[in-house]
Amino acid sequence: MCCPDVLEEMITPMTNTIMNTYGRLPVQFERGEGCYLFDIDGNRYLDALSGIGTCNLGHCHPAVTEALTNQAATLVHTSNLYHVGSQSTLAEKLIAITGMDNVFFANSGAESNEAAIKIARLYGHNKGIETPKIIVMENSFHGRTLATLSATGNSKIQAGFGPLVEGFIRAPFGDIEHVRQLVNQHSDIVAILVEPIQGEGGVNVSPRNYLKNLQQLCNDSELLLMLDEIQTGNGRTGHYFAFQHEKLEPDVVTTAKGLGNGVPIGACIAGRRASGIFQPGNHGSTFGGNPLACAAANAVIDTIQENELLDNSLSMGEYIRQQLALALQDTQGVVEIRGQGLMIGIELSSDCAELMAQALEQKLLINVTAGNVIRLLPPIIIDKEMAQNMIDILVPLIQKHLNR
Ligand SMILES: *Cc1c(COP(=O)(O)O)cnc(C)c1O
Repeated sequence: MCCPDVLEEMITPMTNTIMNTYGRLPVQFERGEGCYLFDIDGNRYLDALSGIGTCNLGHCHPAVTEALTNQAATLVHTSNLYHVGSQSTLAEKLIAITGMDNVFFANSGAESNEAAIKIARLYGHNKGIETPKIIVMENSFHGRTLATLSATGNSKIQAGFGPLVEGFIRAPFGDIEHVRQLVNQHSDIVAILVEPIQGEGGVNVSPRNYLKNLQQLCNDSELLLMLDEIQTGNGRTGHYFAFQHEKLEPDVVTTAKGLGNGVPIGACIAGRRASGIFQPGNHGSTFGGNPLACAAANAVIDTIQENELLDNSLSMGEYIRQQLALALQDTQGVVEIRGQGLMIGIELSSDCAELMAQALEQKLLINVTAGNVIRLLPPIIIDKEMAQNMIDILVPLIQKHLNR
């Protein structure tokens, strides 16, 4: 602290040493507590984004912090050459929640989807299909690795990275007839990969019975129904997983974001037709499911269950959507307010990315996705007062934007 100009010099080149892949808002956070973040000048922000749907229990939840500090002082990593007790415990919890059979642990969403894609391909090869194909949706997002960006339905994410990974066939999200036709036309389709609610694509909720119909189609044609619940999982929509709203029986479920409340961990959960596909040697990860990450995830699941946070996610989500609808009922240009639980989208008639910086100035963190959809993913511990506070800041910003 003695030489501020030296410090200044250090900070400037440091930012240049980070590859220029993100557009960042002009703020740096130092500390988090519950639904609030504090910047390096001590300003407090209401976080309605939770690190992109990741810190679902709020920042530095005491139960997660305790689990992490205890584990960090005991054992951090051993590799998967040995048994990892907390990994088995976490798998048991996920199995109990989903009714599925077994779990592969990864470190991110994209990696969890890579595991799912490999399971689908191996499932096909085991059936004698040489060129197995997976149906994926328009406007989907499945990650930034080569296979997952190829599966993603967004040409901006793919641009410049060809040749893409083969073996994906695209269908419009929500159109069951289109998928049925594809399955009839192509004998080498082995799986359908779909988000129950498209997150990055604009908080697009799947139409009523769409997932159920996809499941029926998968059952009839012996395909794998693979649900990408990386964003919708871990209490975000009011059930632990979104597929539980419709009591589905998927073959594969992937999750990540909220699983470790900010600690990197992902999971690929298999059941039914998919549970026996991977054999020793087929897949692996050095870090996947290590003791530290599993300690966090075990604490997350316990905390959600002990505090009835799924109910809070459901009821606060409903409350926020109702209050938003009420406050914006006379505002022209609000196309739709939608979502499930605390995964909420407000679609406007025009692009509104600048609302992120405007909300930041008002000490509120929000996201805009698909150009014109405000995305709210507040911690699932949020209470009515904070929710009202969020709405009171957001609504005038939306009205000002639309009245320009
Ligand atoms: C965030 C996300 C991913 C990618 O997760 P990463 O951890 O960034 O690799 C994949 N699918 C969905 C639905 C997501 O929301």
